[in-house]
Amino acid sequence: MLGRMMQMPLLISSLLRHAVRWHGDSEIVSRLVEGGIARTTWTQLGERACQLAHVLNDWGVQRGDRVGTLAWNNQRHVETYFAVSASGAVCHTINPRLFPDQIVWIINDAEDTHVFFDLSFVKLVEQIAPRCPSVKSWIAYTDSEHMPVMTPQALCYETLIAGRQTEFDWPQLDENEASSLCYTSGTTGNPKGVLYSHRSTVLHAYCVCLPDTMSVSAADCVLPVVPMFHVNAWGTPYAIALTGAKLVLPGPALDGPSLASLMADEGVTLTAGVPTVWLGLLKHLKEAGQKLPALQRVVIGGAAAPPAMIRQFAEMGITVRHAWGMTEMSPLGTVCTLKTKHTDMSSEAREAVLLKQGRPIFGVDLKIVDAEGRELPRDGKAFGDLMVRGPWILESYFKGAGGDVLQDGWFATGDVSTIDPDGYMGITDRSKDVIKSGGEWISSIDLENHAMAHPAVAEAAAIGVRHPKWDERPILVVVKKPGADLTRDMLLEFMRDKIAKWWMPDDVVFVEDLPHTATGKLSKKDLRERLRDYALPGV
Ligand code: AMP
Repeated sequence: MLGRMMQMPLLISSLLRHAVRWHGDSEIVSRLVEGGIARTTWTQLGERACQLAHVLNDWGVQRGDRVGTLAWNNQRHVETYFAVSASGAVCHTINPRLFPDQIVWIINDAEDTHVFFDLSFVKLVEQIAPRCPSVKSWIAYTDSEHMPVMTPQALCYETLIAGRQTEFDWPQLDENEASSLCYTSGTTGNPKGVLYSHRSTVLHAYCVCLPDTMSVSAADCVLPVVPMFHVNAWGTPYAIALTGAKLVLPGPALDGPSLASLMADEGVTLTAGVPTVWLGLLKHLKEAGQKLPALQRVVIGGAAAPPAMIRQFAEMGITVRHAWGMTEMSPLGTVCTLKTKHTDMSSEAREAVLLKQGRPIFGVDLKIVDAEGRELPRDGKAFGDLMVRGPWILESYFKGAGGDVLQDGWFATGDVSTIDPDGYMGITDRSKDVIKSGGEWISSIDLENHAMAHPAVAEAAAIGVRHPKWDERPILVVVKKPGADLTRDMLLEFMRDKIAKWWMPDDVVFVEDLPHTATGKLSKKDLRERLRDYALPGV
């Protein structure tokens, strides 16, 4: 025997144990849906997670069972993250912004056994509960004083955990067991589940903290604006448990003034979110003449960071970290930080680098390939399909949806990019058929199907067009049936009760024909090219 290292699995319970044992007094501040701000520490949060684990135990929640959440970023949601995963069940974060039918589909596909929800979603729960047979109980994140009367009657979170033991013997799990589940709508067809493991989550958390990633330290005060239902808020709750940074959770208030006041009051040094929220924050700061002297770094991801945004933050002395990733990647893949060689460059040259999506972080390997799968040079000019692999990148979707998704061990991201000789990746296009508006996916195929259901529509194509606030908005390009009488408003009215309001196309453009590929498929690439000079009404 030559000797060896201890065989200790990387578990979410170990993150929680570490947080409680080594930075038990680090603060967690959260804005509540009921109003007001709650303050707690890892010591208290750890105890409450144990109390919740006892509840799950009493309910008979088994290893691998899915437990859902419909909630904003708040303390109770963090407790649920840790209690569910650490006890061996799977924490399934559900995106409440989806259309109710999609939420029902997702809950049924996940076979969630219990669902925790914020009071913002009482009506939603009442609407969907009768169609979710696997869910044995719905639990409102509130206390008895604020409990709503509803049908079905929900359970009260605080009442459930009150008086329970504040210690729990977390099970010794295999680090490759599933810990959490998040569905992506960023693919064609039905949403697909991405199952993270304890190992992938802990490795990803380490990486989030690295200096060239988000650089999270115990001296930070971190406010994740990115929702906890979007890929675990980019791993921030785990990174905080790992480092002992102060955590500030904004609850439902994601508008500029609310974020700015919370950041100022709590001394936030690091924040993360999609470009749309930063537009709101920057607009407010400018109009109110407010400054955020403590804020050092803003991580921008989920969609491309516009140059003006990077510049505006830079003028305030705030560094932008442009990041790229996917639900399928836990999510971080690349982050843009400068190298020593950039120190002497002009500010314009540095800005050009910062606009790129960045260099791969350890754990993620990248390549770009042509249509035949041949690797393209990393010369900053050739662009091709971006492929990834690594220990926190999906190998297959939940329940095998979509079949075998790897190509020679690589996952095709559906993004098209360049990689330059320094390793900086720059997204140039997207090959997947989805539209991303304000950080949320809209299925172009769903829009097309709803439009085609109209008797006057011969063919319809949905594409995303640039929008200054939402990054992209959908429009429909429609060929009418010969002699048919159809207007923009008639078609939109027809679609109104079938899709979420924010999915509604911003415009309908009528055309004589649509471009097709040699195999007869709609060519979105050519259509986008045809509509290159199109501008949304009023933009
Ligand atoms: P999601 O799974 O919702 O996180 O979406 C992932 C997708 O969002 C990527 O495949 C890209 O298409 C897009 N995306 C994420 N980050 C960026 C970025 N920094 N720049 C451009 N597109 C991005």
